Amino acid sequence: MLDDQIFCPTCGADTEHALIKSGQENLVRCVECETVHSVQVERERLVNLKVIVSNDERSEPYFIKIPAKEVLRVGDELLVDDPAKDVVMTEIASLETDRRVSSAPAETIKTVWARATDEVPLRISVYRNGKTHPLKISVAGDEVFEVGEARKVDGFKFVIVKMKLRGEGFAEVAEAKDIQRVWGREL
Ligand SMILES: [Zn+2]
Repeated sequence: MLDDQIFCPTCGADTEHALIKSGQENLVRCVECETVHSVQVERERLVNLKVIVSNDERSEPYFIKIPAKEVLRVGDELLVDDPAKDVVMTEIASLETDRRVSSAPAETIKTVWARATDEVPLRISVYRNGKTHPLKISVAGDEVFEVGEARKVDGFKFVIVKMKLRGEGFAEVAEAKDIQRVWGREL
């Protein structure tokens, strides 16, 4: 049973529906009259959020897109991925709507103040038995990765075969904060 009532064209009213098939349009069945019809899936609405990220003595504005209803809390981790800048992992230090609050849904927030943490997210694809396993880990931004070196992540032991940088191109040696993706082959 779906949580919200849906308008049934046969009953001419909002009724309970069961989900038959989900997709870009959901196929649903009215519980009252058994009419099967499709309904548009409501796209998750995103808002633009201004995040002032402080890093030691510097503070810089970033802009991110985030689901309007997502609740942010002081102390939470927030991944700041402004497409025009680098990606930083932060901790929320303060939230402002029309006043300072300790938590609020994204759509009501005017500014987020966040502290850059030393950790950065790193995506790794490990190739094993004809399949690629995607891994995502959090590592120190200045940790150095090198093609040819062996690593162990989440039980996967692999050798790094390729690294793509956040900017352009690939590298043999790079710091985690500059890496967009690491490819590895399982050992
Ligand atoms: Zn109906």
